[in-house]
This record gives sequence, structure tokens and C-alpha cells, in this order.
Amino acid sequence: MKIVFFGPPGSGKGTQANLLSKELNISHLSTGDILREKLKETDDLSKKLQTIMSSGNLVSDEILNQIVSEKLVGKETNNGFILDGYPRTLSQANFLLNFINQHELNLDLIIDFKIDFKIVEQRIIYRSHQEKRSDDSLNVVKIRLEKYLQETYPVSELFCDKFPDLSHTIDASQEISKIQTELMKLAKKGQN
Ligand code: AMP
Repeated sequence: MKIVFFGPPGSGKGTQANLLSKELNISHLSTGDILREKLKETDDLSKKLQTIMSSGNLVSDEILNQIVSEKLVGKETNNGFILDGYPRTLSQANFLLNFINQHELNLDLIIDFKIDFKIVEQRIIYRSHQEKRSDDSLNVVKIRLEKYLQETYPVSELFCDKFPDLSHTIDASQEISKIQTELMKLAKKGQN
């Protein structure tokens, strides 16, 4: 199955993508995780990424399109994938739409995680204590949420308009297990 997850930071989409990818035996492509892996290196690119990511801003479309297109033609996504954190801008969305057309990768499911931003702020502050992520302080969270509204929300609307039959919204304030059950149901329907 080929799935795209949309949702603001802290909506729990990463947790759900992790669980669902294991259930369906497909690849979890979290661009945030891939970039955080790159931060472990000590080259110039990694230093630039560190500055951008810790400020809550978005990394360039060029870098993201390159990362994702390499993954989508690689073996690890043969069985399917969940895109988590990409596309995040209209330019990335257009790139992806072209790419899936060219490679005949038909999407099966699009999930939009909806949640009140106040809940997100509380969750992220809690996570910053647990995981010590440098992009989880309240100021940075506010920037990340603003970026989501400005850049990514229009992308989720575009996908919803383009693929109305594949698109579903999830109330992301619910318990993890409840959301997981809902997603499994949608995935099963999408497989038929
Ligand atoms: P995430 O874990 O998905 O919240 O991503 C963490 C950070 O990585 C974001 O705040 C951005 O700086 C960067 N990032 C992840 N995915 C993308 C993307 N698709 N486009 C641009 N920047 C991204």
C-alpha cells in the first residue's frame, strides 16, 4: 500500500506511521527521521541542516525531493510506504505528483491528522523533556505550527481535492490505540 500522512507536528502521525507500517509490512518514510540521521554526520551539509531544523524552519525542497525520490525508487519501498512529513510545501507536492505519475505509483490512502494546536503545544513540550529534541521548545514549536499552516495545510487540501476517494481525516486527539484501530480499518478497506 502507498499511503501519505498529513498533520501538524505533535499530532502523533509519526507514532501511528510507525505502528501501521509494521502491521502492513511496508516502509515508514519519515523525512524528519531521515534528516535527523544526517545530523549525526559532521560535514557542512549537516551543520546547515542543524541550524535550519533547530529553528523550526523547513529544509530546502531540493534536498527533500532528492531524498524522497531516491527512497521511492529503492528496494525498501517495493512493498509500499507511508510518507510521513513529506510533501510539506506546494513545490514538494508538485514534484511528488509528477514523480508518482511517471513511475506509475498509484496512491491508496491519504490520512489527515486533525488536532487543536493547544494540545500540540502541550504534547511537544512534554516530548522535549523526554527526547531532548532541539526543535521542541515552545518558541520553536510555534514557528513549526505556523509553517504547517502556511506551507503544509494547503498541500493537504490539494491532495484531498485531487484524491477525494482516498482521503480521510482522523481526530488525532484520541488515544493512540483508538487511532490505530481506525487506521487499520481504513487500510483494510483501501486494500480491497
Ligand atoms: P518532523 O520530524 O517531520 O517534524 O521534521 C523535523 C524537521 O525536519 C522539520 O521541522 C524541518 O526542519 C525538517 N523537515 C522534515 N521534513 C521536511 C520536508 N518535507 N520539507 C522541509 N523540511 C522538512
